[in-house]
Amino acid sequence: MSSDEWPVAIDGDEYHPIPESWIEYGSDQDRGSPRIYAVSVASGPRNMILIRYASPDGRAVKVSMNGAENPSGDGIVPASLAKYENWPRSMVPNRDIEPTGLLRKPEGEHFRELWEDRIQEPDGAERDQRVATDGGTERGGTEQVALSRNPDERQVARLDRDGRKPMCPDCGSYVGHTKSGGKPLPEADAEAFGWSCPNCKLTFPSHCHGPSAPGFNSSMAGLKVEFRDGETRWVPVPTRYVGGESA
Ligand SMILES: [Zn+2]
Repeated sequence: MSSDEWPVAIDGDEYHPIPESWIEYGSDQDRGSPRIYAVSVASGPRNMILIRYASPDGRAVKVSMNGAENPSGDGIVPASLAKYENWPRSMVPNRDIEPTGLLRKPEGEHFRELWEDRIQEPDGAERDQRVATDGGTERGGTEQVALSRNPDERQVARLDRDGRKPMCPDCGSYVGHTKSGGKPLPEADAEAFGWSCPNCKLTFPSHCHGPSAPGFNSSMAGLKVEFRDGETRWVPVPTRYVGGESA
């Protein structure tokens, strides 16, 4: 019964779902295939954390890495995420790494939540399908807005994703290399963590799940920002822009 719920117990370790914010901050390491993607995390001995990565067909691999206390009190995070705001959210494992079994049921569901929109199938079939199903909403919507926008005015928009690669919805440029703090927000003094398009004066903030920006370190807090599609979303900004007191 407990195998259908979080946390998932495997070999005596309790695995929890990888937060979406970790995926936003992570990078896809190595080239080639087969690629494996982070799904769940457990605390390991001393300062180590154990990450379960899996291939899209559900075969799981356990990888241990250094962990660090999340300064926001949110538990343990990968040390490189705490320190450099980056960590391997996906990787191509060495040949000698053996799968340790299949994903458990909640892990399989979480894998789809985290990765379904980010993995590009080699034959492009998945992308065509995604465009077809999203066609009336996000993609179609941003193109319509783009027609009427003033190119000198900075706007806040959502990223488009070409497979895993973050892309500008207006000009199609890949913007993965622009990920950093200090991205301007036209309606606020604050600067967001996220991406930007150098051609289009667009800011694409990362997102977080509330005012405390859970999953980000303690120097970041959540700010509600209105995007050009009219939706208001929480985006991570330095705490000094929110309230004034650092947590
Ligand atoms: Zn652009």
